[in-house]
Amino acid sequence: MTSHTRPDHEFEFIDRVTSLMKATRPDQTLVSFGDDGAVYRPTPGKAQVLTVDMLVEGVHFTRQTMSPVQIGHKALAVNLSDLAAMGAVPAYFLISIGVAEDWTEKALQDIYVGMSRLAAAHRIDLIGGDTVTSPKQLVISITAVGEADTQNLPLRSRARPGHIVFVTGKLGLAAAGLHLLLQENVSQQEKERFAPLLKAHQEPDPHVQQGQLIVHLAQDEPVALNDVSDGLAGEANEIAQASGGDLVLEKKKLPTSRLLLDYAQLQGVDPYDWILTGGEDFVLTGTIAPELFARLNQAFRHQGFPLYEIGRVVSGSGQVWLDDGGKIEPLKAMGYNHFKKRGGSP
Ligand code: ADP
Ligand code: MG
Repeated sequence: MTSHTRPDHEFEFIDRVTSLMKATRPDQTLVSFGDDGAVYRPTPGKAQVLTVDMLVEGVHFTRQTMSPVQIGHKALAVNLSDLAAMGAVPAYFLISIGVAEDWTEKALQDIYVGMSRLAAAHRIDLIGGDTVTSPKQLVISITAVGEADTQNLPLRSRARPGHIVFVTGKLGLAAAGLHLLLQENVSQQEKERFAPLLKAHQEPDPHVQQGQLIVHLAQDEPVALNDVSDGLAGEANEIAQASGGDLVLEKKKLPTSRLLLDYAQLQGVDPYDWILTGGEDFVLTGTIAPELFARLNQAFRHQGFPLYEIGRVVSGSGQVWLDDGGKIEPLKAMGYNHFKKRGGSP
């Protein structure tokens, strides 16, 4: 077997890819790969937070839009982002991978290289997985474990009237990046000019430290958090529905980048299509009391993290409104629906 062909033996393949990963929690890990289950000792007093997310070739990425290193990075990043939105400290992950015929050993190893870089940065250790064959597309499902304090989980239901609505980063960049990646005949010069948009889609940065900072600062006060995986409109609606309050977002306060506005203009696209409904930005959105927001702002500035106020929570019936210079209209959730029927197929 060479690295340009598909791996021909599952167990040797598992040995090779797991050796690419670094263990950062030896004291907590009792049994890692190689047995029927992994075993770890939870930190006393902490609760375990579990999350799972799956990426499917042809649905979430293609080999034209993402390199294998980027696929590995993103598969782990989406799970870290869920842990971030729970204010959790990442600890462990497991990976299930369905390998299609046309994936080479080198490409598969690169997926682990992409994961291992991000894993090391967040001290999250791979401790198990499952390897199977898949008839056509590559499938990667990651289950991640984090640890959190139980007394103040940043649940979607914890938005309260009077709270400020915030986001921890700029919006719409990943969707604009994907739009660019799907264009034909893009010049090298354009790719370089809009590189930050491409990076937002291909190598999202999960806001793990930000999530922890928010719950740490909130102490016993209610705070709601959600990661922006399906677009701000969708995430804001989830918080509104879960809490029963109304969120009023101010259109002019929604943060984005100059580059996104330039690219939207070039393409004749309304930038708010991306800012409001473009998914996969993986910043956090949430709500918190105004006094705490002021302190959070300071703490974020101190760490060099951006933080933007984008609206308010008012008492209502679980809806989201967009205030466009005094004109207030409902903002419906318009995230990607995996069960929606698409053109032609049954
Ligand atoms: P079992 O038959 O007990 O399910 P497997 O043969 O599926 O065992 O896996 C053997 C060991 O390798 C297990 O510890 C499992 O967690 C680990 N493993 C399997 N596939 C992967 C993978 N793709 N990445 C990391 N670890 C893996
Ligand atoms: Mg197995």
